[in-house]
Amino acid sequence: MSPTLKIYNTLTRTKEAFTPLDPAQVRMYVCGPTVYDYAHIGNARPLIVFDVLYRLLRHLYGVAHVKYVRNITDVDDKINARAAERGITIRELTEETNRVFQNDVQALGCLAPDVQPRATEHIAQMIAIIERLIASGHAYAADGHVLFDVPSMPAYGQLSRRSLEDMRAGARVDVAPYKRGDMDFVLWKPSAANEPGWESPWGRGRPGWHIECSAMSWEHLGETFDIHGGGIDLVFPHHENEIAQSCCAFDQRVMANYWMHNGFLQVEGEKMSKSLGNFVTIHELLCTDKFGGRSWPGEVLRLAMLRTHYRQPIDWTVKALEEAEANLLAWHDHADFDSVDESEELPASIVNALCEDLNTAEVISQIHALNKSGQARALKKALQFLGVLNIEKFSRAARASDLQHDLSAETKTQIETLIADRLAARAAKNWAESDRIRDELAAMGVVLKDNKDGATTWELKR
Ligand code: AMP
Ligand code: ZN
Repeated sequence: MSPTLKIYNTLTRTKEAFTPLDPAQVRMYVCGPTVYDYAHIGNARPLIVFDVLYRLLRHLYGVAHVKYVRNITDVDDKINARAAERGITIRELTEETNRVFQNDVQALGCLAPDVQPRATEHIAQMIAIIERLIASGHAYAADGHVLFDVPSMPAYGQLSRRSLEDMRAGARVDVAPYKRGDMDFVLWKPSAANEPGWESPWGRGRPGWHIECSAMSWEHLGETFDIHGGGIDLVFPHHENEIAQSCCAFDQRVMANYWMHNGFLQVEGEKMSKSLGNFVTIHELLCTDKFGGRSWPGEVLRLAMLRTHYRQPIDWTVKALEEAEANLLAWHDHADFDSVDESEELPASIVNALCEDLNTAEVISQIHALNKSGQARALKKALQFLGVLNIEKFSRAARASDLQHDLSAETKTQIETLIADRLAARAAKNWAESDRIRDELAAMGVVLKDNKDGATTWELKR
């Protein structure tokens, strides 16, 4: 018998036993990226955390019985501004950013969600929800805008546990003239001719951010579903507003039964922000030496993320990445996983730890124990489950050849030509020339190995 999955529900502020609405189709929605710029490593946290939960749900309920939806927000004012700044079309910007995003999440070892809906492909559903809200007295049109009437929903504030009074106190003072109440939020707004827009009963316009998730979750998961996830910063206003829209449009008591939020990521003890200059993207960590003077394999980033419980704040440090890498190398050094049989079940104690509100830190200590006691099959299964079993990428030599793979054909030819020239210089006993070429190659990051059989091989320095 499977153990009971317990998850901390932000809605009730308690750890609860998880009971799906329909065990034949467990449904989870996670707010995805707004594709205007590269995702930063803080954005990677929900991607990795909810990927582990997805894997666990598939383990408990069966691969065919879990539906995971993570949206792509491809209409947003930040997108419009960035496209204008770069002198490209919105479509070019969102396509390019989404491509990088997909590569990033794959490198982080995340499984693809079952559906990755795009906001721009769900405008009709957004309009349908807004029409229902107007018809039931929860929204009103004013000045080309449509607003959600917050006081029309007595339960508003249930997730963030804020009263309307608290919210008002924290709100900005300049209230737009078309708003009836200062907390009312935008469902639809008018678009100028040079802004993206769609025809609607309220004129040509575009959706507000919150309505996008209500529409996409409705389309792909139904009026109510099991789990809704995202970072802790989304609790208010984004998730509060999603709940208001969906519950009022569909006349349901809940939008999702379990609301899960990951804690924030800090960099070297400080809040990660562009102004502090400690802002680092997933892409930069994977492909440049911006953080700690070197690049990092996706598995290292993933393991470093999972060392801390998902609800705790995490401090992103070079030291933590080095430790995660040392762990991975040690585990991979001890066993030749290629020759280890895969049929082993995931150890029950690991499933139990995951069922305790995703206690990945405990899983990692169990992995250390499996490694110590030489249980290679169970170890392989555990690493595979966590998404950090990637031997090819993992031996250092293989990583160097990965780098070689990434070089352009032109650069490779240049390296091979220099090596041939050096061999010729050595054959002519021109040692000065041979040393000069070696130095030139070293400056390119190429390390030469003169083998006993006279051949010279090379690899890139890490
Ligand atoms: P955004 O693009 O800001 O909507 O963020 C996408 C996702 O990343 C959301 O689930 C955010 O809550 C989450 N997120 C953003 N910044 C951080 C951070 N520093 N630490 C953890 N999660 C974050
Ligand atoms: Zn959302």
